[in-house]
Amino acid sequence: MSETVILVVEDEATISNFICRALVSAGYKTLTAPTGREGLTLFFSHRPGLVLLDLGLPDMDGLEVLEQIRSGPEEETAVIILTARDRESEKVKALDMGADDYIVKPFGVAEVLARIRTCLRHAQRLRSAEGERRERYEIGDLILDTASHQVFAAGREVHLTQNEFKILELLCLHPGKVLTYDFIMRRVWGPYSGGGNQILRVNMANIRRKLGENPSEPKYILTELGVGYRLLEES
Ligand code: CA
Repeated sequence: MSETVILVVEDEATISNFICRALVSAGYKTLTAPTGREGLTLFFSHRPGLVLLDLGLPDMDGLEVLEQIRSGPEEETAVIILTARDRESEKVKALDMGADDYIVKPFGVAEVLARIRTCLRHAQRLRSAEGERRERYEIGDLILDTASHQVFAAGREVHLTQNEFKILELLCLHPGKVLTYDFIMRRVWGPYSGGGNQILRVNMANIRRKLGENPSEPKYILTELGVGYRLLEES
């Protein structure tokens, strides 16, 4: 496999340097830009495999940079947003605009590298059309069979309702990726579902109870507070 090029768009030099050192020692090639404009220029001239994008840039809104990246044909380029802890609505907006994931500052090397690996795997799956609906998903000891409409957790059959099954299938289709409440709502209940996320929360609580999840130590589904849900992937 050729070296993946990662573009880091971040105005804070200490963060940018810290990320680049970690990426280079993990075997990636890096490009850096301290502004949105330079980031876009590098993006369109080098076509990197992944972009780490800070939302707080000096010259333009990071969401605007994301919009321009997503307006091109390079849909397979993964974009991970770098954001501050208290910017929930911004994160959700970025995810709904096509960002693949986000990392909350401050973060450690292990976390960045794990998120990058997940995103690249996901992009790879989409390229190879494996991202399409499958007959059977096996993620850890969770098995979801779309042909027979059966779910097994730790060897035990779990009986889900139609919507619970749809939600879990959606999560299985995107292992390791955070799915926003809005994304799941639209896919399961349709574009005119309206209202809040209460129905989704209720369904999710039922799924977890049926899977035998321990709420303090989730094994299958992680809640991303104020954002959505993520199916845990085996590392
Ligand atoms: Ca910044």
